[in-house]
Amino acid sequence: MTVRTRFAPSPTGMLHIGGARTALFAWLYARHFGGEFVLRIEDTDRERSTDEATKVILDGLAWLGLDWDGEPVFQSAREAQHVAAVEKLLAQGKAYKCYCSKDELDEMREGQREAGQKAMYDGRCRSRKEHPEGAPYVVRFRSPDEGETWVKDQVLGDVCFPNKELDDLIIMRTDGTPTYNLAVVVDDADMGITHVVRGSDHLNNTPRQIQLYEALGLIPPAFAHIPLIHGPDGAKMSKRHGSVAITEYREQGYLPHAVNNYLARLGWSHGDEEVFSEAQLIELFDLAQVGKGAARFDQQKLDWLNGHW
Ligand code: GLU
Repeated sequence: MTVRTRFAPSPTGMLHIGGARTALFAWLYARHFGGEFVLRIEDTDRERSTDEATKVILDGLAWLGLDWDGEPVFQSAREAQHVAAVEKLLAQGKAYKCYCSKDELDEMREGQREAGQKAMYDGRCRSRKEHPEGAPYVVRFRSPDEGETWVKDQVLGDVCFPNKELDDLIIMRTDGTPTYNLAVVVDDADMGITHVVRGSDHLNNTPRQIQLYEALGLIPPAFAHIPLIHGPDGAKMSKRHGSVAITEYREQGYLPHAVNNYLARLGWSHGDEEVFSEAQLIELFDLAQVGKGAARFDQQKLDWLNGHW
């Protein structure tokens, strides 16, 4: 089996240092196994996605030397495949049309909160027979009511999600556009992705995606969720801790190899050694040695590394 990883940024802004590290880990993993690293530009949010952001992200990856195989895939060009998957699920009764209005949903959630329950969709349209002629609807995935969905994560270990806590996910909006979880599953499957390496902020999406793989008769890939980068104070990395955009590092004269070395060591440990050539990083990198906790940004260490070359 050829290892195939991907980086799937949404082109709504800069290439963030956290995104660059995710891309680096996916790239290192693929290159370690002589596999492929592909790009998918997740540009389905038409209002927020820009060509400029796509360019900034591609330039940032190229500057870091994270070369990708083939041409980037634009998710917006794959809507027909996403819609076909939704139709398949509808035809098989694994998804259904939900006609609940915003008012109805608000009232339902309000009632749940008052009863001290978690606010979640109660599945009422699973059995709704009547609906107003021409009324707008979303399509929801019929999530299993019982049992558990396990994410066997290569970094975080086995994580269990009780199915009763996962409500029926919207997979298509009222305007007929597919949602993130559906599109990602269809695209990762079609692109032959064997290992999904991404930020741990996506962990909660993964049981949803595993359920969708199973419903579509597809085999899920392996998953590895990389803990986020925090500032020295433990808060999520932001501008006040240092530069967050990769372009800023370039402008400040950092060497791409130093940034890669630093990012690789941010969360991945390999003995006490501090400095690695690119070839060594590829040879030594292993997801099993990525820490489970958030990594702490350390400007001094980056500067030390940068001075090393
Ligand atoms: N487009 C998503 C993001 O930028 C990533 C999706 C994924 O890796 O599954 O957060």
